[in-house]
Amino acid sequence: MTAKPDEAAIMAVLANVPDPEIPAVSVVDLGIVRGVSGGKVQITPTYSGCPATRYIEESIREALDQAGFASIGIETLLAPAWTTEWISSEGKAKLAAYGIAPPDLARTAKCPQCGSTETEEVSRFGSTPCKAQWRCLACLEPFDRFKCH
Ligand SMILES: [Zn+2]
Repeated sequence: MTAKPDEAAIMAVLANVPDPEIPAVSVVDLGIVRGVSGGKVQITPTYSGCPATRYIEESIREALDQAGFASIGIETLLAPAWTTEWISSEGKAKLAAYGIAPPDLARTAKCPQCGSTETEEVSRFGSTPCKAQWRCLACLEPFDRFKCH
């Protein structure tokens, strides 16, 4: 990241903006906020069809305004597309604590309940369009998983 005078302060504000779907993690944890450049906060939606995208923008706008950064704009970048690799290690830990399987490069999802990798995808659409529903074959617990791109 380039060293802009207010970037650290802006990122600190954004670190307190929760993801509307998973309030346990912030938009910074998820890697939605790419950084601050040219007086604009650059964001990339997690999922192009995600209905939460608009809400995330509004939340960020509100947080910036309240923190005195009304002059800072928001720029939505669609390329490169968001990938689960952008989720910070802290974000992954928070997701795991919240009971959502952190995505990784492996095809199989690890059960957040018992840690088994004997899992199967039940539905492409979990509790929200951005998550798929999975089930653990070891403990039979269902869980949500972020869709990998
Ligand atoms: Zn399990």
